[in-house]
Amino acid sequence: MPESREELRVGKPTVDHALASLVTDLLTTIHLLSGYPAVSVQPEIHRLPQAAIAERVCHKPCGVRAYYRPDWGVLLDESLNVESDTFDRSILLHELVHYVQAARGRFDTMPSACDRWNAAEREAYALQNQFLADVHSAKHVAMSGWAARCDDKDSLAASRL
Ligand SMILES: [Zn+2]
Repeated sequence: MPESREELRVGKPTVDHALASLVTDLLTTIHLLSGYPAVSVQPEIHRLPQAAIAERVCHKPCGVRAYYRPDWGVLLDESLNVESDTFDRSILLHELVHYVQAARGRFDTMPSACDRWNAAEREAYALQNQFLADVHSAKHVAMSGWAARCDDKDSLAASRL
């Protein structure tokens, strides 16, 4: 696997003290909401144009605005205002749930990759909705549309938040 080439394609992480402080708060929130042990090490965060995220994740234009992969860290649409918009912040929280899941090996024992993916997404959406309810947001997110399509890996990849 050309790991280093993949890293080069993602580029350098965004270094931003306000963002790092927000990530610390969200990791604490995930710990409190989920019962996961606290994770003190932060993932790399890459703020990129949405088109650059689509290119890396979907290899063509698509709607994905945030994505987590263990060897990349979190890719975040640079137009998301995670500092002051609670819904945008919930998108970052969702990706941080995937980071914590990976750090804890949460679903590693499930034999089917598709089942692992579904379980991970179900939990990430549930925690995102708990967060939105806690901040009294009128919005919520639903993982409809693709959850049962375990035979269709391409559309799973394309529609993952
Ligand atoms: Zn997700």
